[in-house]
Amino acid sequence: MQNRWNDQDAAAFTGPLAQRVYTSRLLGADPSLVLHGGGNTSVKAAQKNIFGEEETILYVKGSGWDLATIEAPGFSPCRLPTLLKLAKLSELSDTDMARELLVSMTNPAAPAPSVEAILHAILPQTFVDHTHADAIITLTNSVDGEARIREVFGDQVVIVPYVMPGFKLVRAIAALDPARAAPQAIGMVLLNHGIFSWGETAKESYDRMIDLVDLAEDYLKRKSAWTLPAAAFRPASGTLAAPLAALRKGISTLAGFPLILSAHTDEVALAFTQRANVALVSQQGPATPDHVIRTKRVPLVGREVAQYAQDYKAYFDTQAARSPQKLTMLDAAPRVILDPELGLVALGRSAADAAIAEDIYRHTIEIITRAETLGGYRALPVTDLFDMEYWELEQAKLKRQGAPKAFAGEVALVTGAASGIGKACVVSLLARGAAVVGLDLNPAITELHKRKDFLGLTCDVTDEAALATAIEQAARRFGGLDMLVLNAGIFPASRPVAELSSTEWTRVMQINLDANLALMRLAHPLLKLAPRGGRVVVIGSKNVPAPGPGQSAYSASKAALTQLARVAALEWGADGIRVNTLHPNAVFDTALWTEEILQKRAASYGLTVEQYKTNNVLHVEVTSRDVAELAAEMCGPLFSKTTGAQVPVDGGNDRVI
Ligand code: ZN
Repeated sequence: MQNRWNDQDAAAFTGPLAQRVYTSRLLGADPSLVLHGGGNTSVKAAQKNIFGEEETILYVKGSGWDLATIEAPGFSPCRLPTLLKLAKLSELSDTDMARELLVSMTNPAAPAPSVEAILHAILPQTFVDHTHADAIITLTNSVDGEARIREVFGDQVVIVPYVMPGFKLVRAIAALDPARAAPQAIGMVLLNHGIFSWGETAKESYDRMIDLVDLAEDYLKRKSAWTLPAAAFRPASGTLAAPLAALRKGISTLAGFPLILSAHTDEVALAFTQRANVALVSQQGPATPDHVIRTKRVPLVGREVAQYAQDYKAYFDTQAARSPQKLTMLDAAPRVILDPELGLVALGRSAADAAIAEDIYRHTIEIITRAETLGGYRALPVTDLFDMEYWELEQAKLKRQGAPKAFAGEVALVTGAASGIGKACVVSLLARGAAVVGLDLNPAITELHKRKDFLGLTCDVTDEAALATAIEQAARRFGGLDMLVLNAGIFPASRPVAELSSTEWTRVMQINLDANLALMRLAHPLLKLAPRGGRVVVIGSKNVPAPGPGQSAYSASKAALTQLARVAALEWGADGIRVNTLHPNAVFDTALWTEEILQKRAASYGLTVEQYKTNNVLHVEVTSRDVAELAAEMCGPLFSKTTGAQVPVDGGNDRVI
């Protein structure tokens, strides 16, 4: 366990709140201590109010802030005496407690205080640090957990039996009164929950947290319970795209909402899913109780997919029966599926949510595996987990999230995505909540967007093997394919038919036509499994209805592509897949056009560049964004009853009209 304190860095943070910011970030920088909001910190400081009176304020981590990046405004300023008074109440519902915490603040614009605020208040020390450190949970969640904690820490820590976080936990700790009962203690271990440390300076409290967690890690190493085992077997190499898309379809259908699904077949994930007792240990996990598993080592076929869906339905029914609120299937949708061949499969309403589920479960895997090596993993009884998950405050949080975006949980693939219309399509689809896979010859595609819901792949679309690999990667990363935007193409230099070589003709056909056939064929099995039906948008050209001299190969390739799309619309309608074509014209903000070419072209018609750009019926300039927005809308509900259509986006062309 690395102690990240640095005197020089720390010196830049003056005053108690700034010091609190500094060490909170140090804790947040270590995911084995703090993961996705799993910890909080506080400091008590005197402050003068508007009447000039001195008050003691508890600055405690506010909700919506991450310890790794927290700043001073991320701490909620609560009046300490109010919190201490609340702690003395014999009863308080958690909803009332959350309201009273808001009322206790000196600044109504500050973020809502952590629900663990009163725990920080009743500990008398100036600085209090709280984490859900993996090593501590590993010890408390193993056989004889409490005895191991005593063995490791002696009287350095106070031990608190498990109580659900909230006001009941406040009462339990207030009754223990650690400051009086164990004045020598430097921290407190909450069984099945986490650890607190405290001190008079930020450094003292932080150092103690690191030292305590270090003792737990050393213990695990001494007991040879630190190193994670290797996978027993590697699944046969080959495609997982079809089973993953089928699994996603089954679960999305039950949830009533498309979900992103990502599969991870690395060594650690496979080793865990291949454990002989995976069914037993994974069904009592602390972090994510809501998952289903398949333990048989058999190829995943339709029957097993249905089995997953059934397990999920059964899980939902049990939860719904116990819930005081009305649950939706989505509330109960599994976030993790463990499969000896598919590996660790994480699900979410967005790629970011799936990534959080993956992250949390990876820590769960370490905790369970190490606790099993120690002698056996012991989680909380299922009822406690259920109470936690459907705790009234958690439910309120879900409600606040609001309505999802139009394409939330859906996956789009765009070709020629590094520039021009393709690049704009990526932006339009991401803005509507889709996860997007962008293909391009240009390696810059891999860096186009740094976000969880974008996957950029360098790919030559005329290479069928490369296309197959791209589809497989898309399915492993996001679970399938709902939308396909066929945009990649070339616009060769102008050449009359009498001078056009067969080589050039063939090259244009390979890129603008053949590559699209190959991609449509490869994508069809996944589009068929799209929870809301597949959509294909073909970027055609004005040259289809109104060709120009010198562009025979280009015009013929786009005309053939349009015809291919029309036939696909006829054939794939029965699979619920819509295929529509856009015919843009004179889109000049693409890689094909430079200022120099524009000037030359404009001059050849006796026009200025401005006149040339708006040389259409409406006298408007058509941009990549205009085309992209229409392409995205064609995938949306407005076009849900349209297939086989061709729509111009050209400002009106007198030869087309
Ligand atoms: Zn906690």
